[in-house]
This record gives sequence, C-alpha cells and structure tokens, in this order.
Amino acid sequence: MKQQIFERIRSLGQLSRIEVAKDLGVSAGSVTTLTSELLQDGYLEETRSAPRDVTRGRPKVALQVRRSAGYVAGIKISNEAHTAVVVDFAGRPVGEARLSAEQGAGTLEGLLDAAQKIFAMAVADAGLARGDVSAVGVGLPGMVDHASGIWLWSPLLNERRIPIRDLLTERVGLPVQIDNDVNLLTLAELWYGAGRSVSDFAVVTIEQGVGMGLVLGHNLYRGAHGFGMELGHVKVQLDGALCRCGRRGCLEAYIADYALVREAHVALGLVNRPTGASSSVLLESLYDQAKAGNEAARTIFRRAARFLALTLANVVNLFDPPLIILSGERMRYDYLYEDDTLEEAKTMTLDKGRPDTRIEIHAWGDWVWARGAATLALSALTDARLAGEAA
Ligand SMILES: [Zn+2]
Repeated sequence: MKQQIFERIRSLGQLSRIEVAKDLGVSAGSVTTLTSELLQDGYLEETRSAPRDVTRGRPKVALQVRRSAGYVAGIKISNEAHTAVVVDFAGRPVGEARLSAEQGAGTLEGLLDAAQKIFAMAVADAGLARGDVSAVGVGLPGMVDHASGIWLWSPLLNERRIPIRDLLTERVGLPVQIDNDVNLLTLAELWYGAGRSVSDFAVVTIEQGVGMGLVLGHNLYRGAHGFGMELGHVKVQLDGALCRCGRRGCLEAYIADYALVREAHVALGLVNRPTGASSSVLLESLYDQAKAGNEAARTIFRRAARFLALTLANVVNLFDPPLIILSGERMRYDYLYEDDTLEEAKTMTLDKGRPDTRIEIHAWGDWVWARGAATLALSALTDARLAGEAA
C-alpha cells in the first residue's frame, strides 16, 4: 500500500492526504501513518499548495515527491542518434544528451562505448556526479528479453542473443534494466501521458519499423519471451513483400521507412542514379513531392496509410482497447492519420454498436523514449527501496 500511495502522488504531482485516501479507497488513518513513514524516509515532502477556497483560511497542505531523493538515467539506443536523460525521483528530467549513432556503428564494442559516453554526458548535463545516479534504464530496438537481460535480435548488430544488460552494467558500473524501446515509450505514456487515465491502452509506433506496446490493467504486457507485440511482423499478405526479418508479407514490408524508401527510388526517378541520401532525407523529399501533387508519391503514402488502417482495425478487433496512441517520428506525416485513414480503419472493425476506440496522435521526439527508459529504472529503484521496508 505504501508503494501505491507513493506512485499515486508521483503520478499526480501533488495530493493532500484526504485526496490520497479518497482516490485509493484507504482509511485516512492508514494514509497518515504510511505517508509519515514516507516523509520520515525522505521520499515525500510537504508543500503548501494554494487554497481552493481562500475564505477558508489556512492553505491546504499537500504531499509531493522529494525530487532529490534519487536520480536515474534513461538511454535510448537507435540507429540514427542515441539519446539519454537523467530524471529526479519525481521522474522530472534534469539533464539530457544526444550522440550521433555513426561512431562505432555496427559493432557491439562501439555500441557499448556510445552508451557509456552518452550516460556520462547526460550526468554532466544534469550537474551531477556519477555517484548521484542509482540506476540506468536502456531502451533497445528489436527483440529484448527484459527478464533475462538478453538482446535476442537487434536490427543494429549481426550478433544474436547478446547479454547486453550485464555488459552495460559492467560499463556504467550501475544496475541496468533493459527493455524493448516501444515498451518503454508505452511506460512513459502510462506514467506521464494519456495512459494515466485508462487501465488498458495500446501504443502503435511507426519509425524504422512498426512497434506496439500494450497496457492491460495498468501493467505493461510483455509476452512470455520478449517476442510479443511484434505488430510490424504481423502478416498482411500471403507471399507478400520481403521483410527485413527474412519472412514475407509482414506489415513492416509495406509501411516502415525502408519499405517507403524502396518505392521512393522509383517514384522519384532515382533507380539508376543512387543518391547516397539517407532514408530520412529521401522520405522527406518523397513527402514534399506528395504534398506538391506528385501522383506517384501520393500513391505510396496513401497505400501505407491503408495498411495502417488495416493494422489499427486488427488491434481494435483483437484487444478492444478504449484508447490507441499513435506515436513515433513518422506521425509528423499527416497522411498517416488523416480522416480517410481513421474512417477506413473503422470500416474494418466490428461495429455492432461498440463505442469507437479513441485514437490519439503523439508526434513526440526522441526524448520521450529516453524518458521511458528512465522510468523503467526509476520504477525498479522505487520498488527496491520501498519494498525493502515494512509494507
Ligand atoms: Zn517481418
């Protein structure tokens, strides 16, 4: 119960004891006892918030997390740029860093070096010493077994089954937790975003690949082995286009960056004159062409949007979530979620009078992923500290 009280206050920022008791259905007496322990241990502090009714005299006393009670770092490893944040005990960012992924790309050593470097940069940016930070969370693309700490499959390296958690722990000298990057984005939504108000929701991301995160009953669902939620490899076509996973007909092969780039070469007339441009540059120019009315470019985006509609409908038909959050870099491209796409998704879901699933678009940048990684570390740290005491 103590942990629940703490999480409630952290999630809402400031709460009075009476509000805590009401929200969690606990007696005022227990709340007073447990919060005084949290105050004594330095996890919470009192604050005088503005009175709701000035004629009633004394300002109300609220509780909030004591921000300096601990710090953790979150790192997102990616194929373009790595990002890192340091957050305080309330989960608020106090330092950040960004590092191009080019250096040391393609090798495990290079990746470990980069993680170590960006961690140090973020800690320095926060004005802290390494000893002030208690734990690190790391978000990785590909297939990650959170429980065993093994990176099963990575789009960045050729090695398989890398014991990355232990390797990173050795490098940074702190306890490390790892998870799939989309799970961590989902965790950020659960803690700080739209997910705070619902017990079940799905997150669908479109970036280099297509990912999905799922929250059931306020908890992240990970599957048994770290291979779940691979929405990008759900088959949408028998014997279809070749996917980077080696199979055919996966959603990613129709909608991910590399799939669009493959078609962009044709649409932009680049087949016989390779430009050497990065996929993001090519996609930007394809998008500009589509907006300017280039029919071939428009068709490529339109087709990707139809596959997205099909995907959303499948998620709704399978899980019936009250909310789907669409996230990721590509959400800047409005074709993906224009009314046509959402309408089309609706025509493929069972209607029979079911209420529409709310679909929200969050075109957040890299930082939210790193913040999700920090959340993983913070959650583990909080559990360890609070569970270590009498419940
Ligand atoms: Zn695939």
